[in-house]
Amino acid sequence: MLTFLNKYIFQAGMPAPRLRSRSLRRVFRKVPGGRVSLQYKKQRPKTAKCGSCGASLKGVPRAFPFRMRSMAKTKKRPERPYGGVLCSRCMRQSIIDKTRQ
Ligand SMILES: [Zn+2]
Repeated sequence: MLTFLNKYIFQAGMPAPRLRSRSLRRVFRKVPGGRVSLQYKKQRPKTAKCGSCGASLKGVPRAFPFRMRSMAKTKKRPERPYGGVLCSRCMRQSIIDKTRQ
């Protein structure tokens, strides 16, 4: 757990110009020496959204493409029609609409 004092130490120093961008996220990591270090990491990808209503999809991991590539297909999206494309509610509604046509 990061204490207020540790956070204050990081705020005191001016980061290098390339690290002042907010396109990088700041991660506090405990290093092997026991010290807490501020590391700059790439922003994580946004959550997958439903193609119909825009709600964030459950069961779709928020991972970088290189991690998604090594993941099993069953771990990347729910195993149902339109899994990973539509949310469950929109999927149900679209099936109902199609059968009533
Ligand atoms: Zn939806």
